[in-house]
Amino acid sequence: MSSETARPRRIGVMGGTFDPIHNGHLVAASEVADRVKLDQVIFVPTGRPWQKEGEHASDPSRMVSPAEHRYLMTVVATASNPRFTVSRVDIEREGVTYTVDTLRDLRDAFPDDELYFITGADALETILTWHDWEGLFELANFIGVSRPGYELNVKHLTEHLATKPARSLQLIEIPALAISSTDCRDRAAAGRPVWYLVPDGVVQYIAKHGLYRKEPSERV
Ligand code: ATP
Ligand code: MG
Repeated sequence: MSSETARPRRIGVMGGTFDPIHNGHLVAASEVADRVKLDQVIFVPTGRPWQKEGEHASDPSRMVSPAEHRYLMTVVATASNPRFTVSRVDIEREGVTYTVDTLRDLRDAFPDDELYFITGADALETILTWHDWEGLFELANFIGVSRPGYELNVKHLTEHLATKPARSLQLIEIPALAISSTDCRDRAAAGRPVWYLVPDGVVQYIAKHGLYRKEPSERV
């Protein structure tokens, strides 16, 4: 390819707790990769997600699974796709995970490439509450994807972004999969199936390590 036609590589960034990773995450990444012509999608399991800690946790008694399990399930789920990779930047950084740090680390790792941060409609709704949200929009393009149960819109964002130096923000409708990690955990805890909601290897990983099982004293 001549230097005139070369364009920076486009790298998708799919952040998440991935506890466990499910087919909704994978469809989102695959669909955005196709529509935005991404060369690669990097899945980034969070270290300690700030939204799921302390006062922010919807259920403070729930512990997020160890990072190594979440990382390995993400590797298992993405291994067969040549465009998908998994990064350890968040699980190796000390302290609570903020997306702005994720994007800074990836910017340093891929200084010549364009980053596209992929986020579901539920996360997009709250993005103005994220730590240093203005920095986020300077570091990466944003792709909001539809998710059943949430409205995909950026009315709350456009006014804020108009006055800031920001990269692009694009909304994409993806095939609707009403799957959440919360539901997968609840199913596994109740001994109900997660087949076809998560990749087969992840079903087997959950069973092998007994993830999400209730403590014996809690079982009925
Ligand atoms: P939990 O129920 O534990 O919050 P989750 O299913 O929401 O898990 P996360 O790891 O919190 O998964 O989400 C990571 C990213 O994937 C977020 O941007 C979220 O909006 C997006 N996402 C998750 N599930 C879907 C889905 N079914 N369709 C589209 N986007 C999704
Ligand atoms: Mg979530």
